[in-house]
Amino acid sequence: LLSVSGLRKSYGDRVVLDDVSLSVEPHEVVCLIGSSGSGKSTLLRCLNLLEEIDDGVISFDGREISDPRVDARAVRSRIGMVFQAYNLFPHLTVLDNCTLAPRRVHGVRKADAEARALELLSRFGLEEHATKHPDRLSGGQQQRAALVRAMCTSPTLLLLDEITAALDPELVGEVLSIVRAEAAAGTTMVIATHEMAFARDVATQVCFLHEGRILEQGPPAQIFSSPREERTRQFLARVL
Ligand code: ATP
Ligand code: MG
Repeated sequence: LLSVSGLRKSYGDRVVLDDVSLSVEPHEVVCLIGSSGSGKSTLLRCLNLLEEIDDGVISFDGREISDPRVDARAVRSRIGMVFQAYNLFPHLTVLDNCTLAPRRVHGVRKADAEARALELLSRFGLEEHATKHPDRLSGGQQQRAALVRAMCTSPTLLLLDEITAALDPELVGEVLSIVRAEAAAGTTMVIATHEMAFARDVATQVCFLHEGRILEQGPPAQIFSSPREERTRQFLARVL
């Protein structure tokens, strides 16, 4: 579904991603782990064409999307992204947040967009909050609503960047349970996370980034139980 090869990205003369290659099959859940500053967010932003890349090729669903002639908006309409915080438009209700992209970008009729949004909101325990504005919701409820909003467009690929990092520990579980449900439903995802237990639980593949390179990748059981690289071992010793 997604393949990255030889990706390089610099900010000024600082190389942030160096020869990154990665391939993601349909229904896979790939977790990116690594220290702060290792390049996880930058990689996700490159996949969603939010960053210009210096070298390499990104292909999505059989098309080379890193080609500068590609319409980035059209690509983004099929790739959902949820960030650490500030995902929802504050001036819109939860329901209007959820129906905005389906209506404006995908041309779905209002009634259909609302029916789908309400179905997802109720599935994740947010129905009673549909007509509220985001500032009336808890942080965990806001992030659940942000996930529902991303899911309302039925993205082919979902990119999640530290979506629980800004939450109190007791709110993390409710957000991660939605991601687990999405993973179980077969949505392909690439997730940057500091939640190692979660990565171990949902990932089909874990990539350890160090200083802009994928130093090691493999199934979670292998990465967490018998990492091959000393750097991976050191990182896991610090965070586990
Ligand atoms: P964290 O776990 O803290 O979220 P990360 O792995 O997501 O870290 P990135 O945000 O991808 O790391 O940052 C990688 C490197 O790129 C860092 O050294 C960062 O300072 C640098 N960087 C990120 N964005 C920019 C930018 N817009 N301009 C300049 N440097 C940047
Ligand atoms: Mg980051």
